[in-house]
This record gives sequence, C-alpha cells and structure tokens, in this order.
Amino acid sequence: MINKSLQFSLFLLFISALTTTQPPTLFSQASPSANRIESVRCELINDVVTIRIIASTTIESFQKPELSGSEILVRLPDMGIENDAVHESCALHSIAVSSKLIRNILVLRIEAGVANSEVEITRDGSNALVLSVSRGAKVRASGANGRKWMLDVIVIDAGHGGVDGGAEGVNGVFEKDVTLQLALQLRDKLRTLMPDTKVVMTRETDVFVELFRRTQIANEAGGKLFVSIHCNSMPTKPHPANGCETYILRPGRNADAARVASRENSSVQFEKPNKRYGAMDEEQIIVATMAQRSFVRFSELFASNLQKTVAQNSPLQNRGVNQAGFYVLVGASMPNVLFETAFLSNEKDASFISSSSGQTKMVNAMSNAIVQYAEKYQETLNK
Ligand SMILES: [Zn+2]
Repeated sequence: MINKSLQFSLFLLFISALTTTQPPTLFSQASPSANRIESVRCELINDVVTIRIIASTTIESFQKPELSGSEILVRLPDMGIENDAVHESCALHSIAVSSKLIRNILVLRIEAGVANSEVEITRDGSNALVLSVSRGAKVRASGANGRKWMLDVIVIDAGHGGVDGGAEGVNGVFEKDVTLQLALQLRDKLRTLMPDTKVVMTRETDVFVELFRRTQIANEAGGKLFVSIHCNSMPTKPHPANGCETYILRPGRNADAARVASRENSSVQFEKPNKRYGAMDEEQIIVATMAQRSFVRFSELFASNLQKTVAQNSPLQNRGVNQAGFYVLVGASMPNVLFETAFLSNEKDASFISSSSGQTKMVNAMSNAIVQYAEKYQETLNK
C-alpha cells in the first residue's frame, strides 16, 4: 500500500506529465554556467543515428565519447542544459538521452540500444556537435515503390495464444485464433505496402507468450509502433454490446475500460508465478504512463487514425479511443496501442471478425491506418 502523500505527489507528477509538451530531461540540474545545451535532436537514416547537440554559445571543449556497454557518454565541461532540450525525435527513434551535471561537467548519457556501435563526433560550426552512431546493419536499398519510411520497424502482437485462449465467441471461436489470423494477414499486407519497413511479430504460431515478453521483443527489435490485437467480450453472452475500440495506456477512467483491462490482464494467470505484476495497481500505471509521456501523443494519434479507418472500412460500430492500465503495454518504449477489434460475445460482431471477408476488411483498415500514421510520423520528424 502506498501512503497518501506519495499518492498525491504521484498524482501531481501525472498531471504535470499530461500538461508537458516536451519530454523532460531526466536528472537535469541547474547549471552555474551561462553556456547551455539548448537542443538535442535525433535522426535515423540508413541505420545511422545522428544526434545533433546545439548550445546557446560556443562549445569550448568536449571529450571523446566513451562507450559503456550500449551506453554512450559525452562529457562537456562548463556546460549546462535546458530542461526541455531533448527533442521528442529521440524517444521516437528509441534513443534515451539523459543528462547529469557532475561539478562543472555536463555528462550526456545516450542509450541507442546497440552494443559495440561505432561512434564519431564532429563539430558543426562553433555551437553544435554531431554524434553519429552506426547501428551496424548494412544500408538497405530502397524498395519497389522507392519509398523508405522513417517508421522502419512495426511490431504486431497477436493477443493470447497457446494455453491462454482469451475470450470464447458465441460462435465457438477463440480470441487467440482470431488475433493470430488478423496479425499474420496484417504482416503480409504491410510487407507489400511498406517493403522497407520491418514487421516484427511477437508470435506467429499458437504459442503462449508472457505479457512482459511481448514489449521486450518490441523494444529489442527497435520497434517504432506496437499494436496489440485483441477481441472484446462481455461476461454474459450473447450480449448486445458491439463495435471496435482502441486503448492507450493510462489509468482507467471508467468501469467499462477497467473491465476490459482486467480481462486482458488476466492472461498473467497462465504465466509462471512471478512478482513482475504483483503490485501492479493504479499508482504503478501512473508511473508507467509517465515513462511513456514523450510518445503518448503518437499513441493517441495512431489510436484515433485506427478508429477512423475501421469505421470507414467496416460495419463495426466506432466506440472510439479509450484508456486503461494494460500490463502488455506497460514496458513499451515506443508509441503503442491495444486494439479491441470486435465483440466475440456479440453474434453479428463475432461472425464478422471470424469470417474471411470481415478479416480482409479489418486488415485493410489496420494497414491503411499504419500507412497514414507513417506519413504523419515522417512529417513530424522532418519538421
Ligand atoms: Zn485479449
């Protein structure tokens, strides 16, 4: 149990997270120095990460970057940093940038997620440094349509699997089978539409994958978008509730969202006993939500795109974007959503989402939403 004052300060932090538009720099402190880093921006081109560090005045000196595992340390003497210096482009490329002031030396810690990367640092005028981190992979040729997306890795998560069947439909189908069918078709469709974008699956067969492992796979693959596919269900069936809805990770606001989260989170009962989710309560959801604040806008953007394209391309009722605490989304270091395609407890919805024509419509809608999102993502990063 957590005491009241901590609860209150978590609440304040949560409110400030909601109202902060720029990702705050972790560990930053006020510097006595007048010279400050004003911006840190990340770009990813052909597997080379470029990090541009811009100061308010001349950068007099810097130390050669030090590699420590997958972390890169850059030390800048007599330098401070603005609180909002780290641009959201870094979080979107799964690059964590934090800073710490040790006496008069500013230490930038850059986690680009790659061990043994090659790092080079060069000056770009007197006020800027450019750090290039090679992710090691070969430069890929552009695809048939000549379009190379900045949204280079998409992770598709077919909910449930193996011993965890998920919801059972009024027509006898299991959620785990419907989610896998949709995920495999979506994978193939995306490979055609976006040949240069890597599509990573958390499962491709009827196997059980632990909830934490799903975002671990996504993070290790350097995913830029995580889509967890599910089917909704009511406790009694048949039930009139119907339609599709998309969830983002945030503390639940209503009983209906809490019901959905509790049903999806119950997958942990099939995992080996562990303490991983033991204390997962509202406070922890708040903390996890804060950790995702730098890309939550993008989760929302994708969620609303997805609802829009499904409403346009299927007979399913649009239940909109909702929020709740889903264990499967907690660990994601990228924009992420949980998509409840349709209600298996509703006769019409269940027959639509288990039919091949219904699944084709759903996959078309999802892939359209992803392509539209890729375009907006690109525009934002080019700004
Ligand atoms: Zn589910």
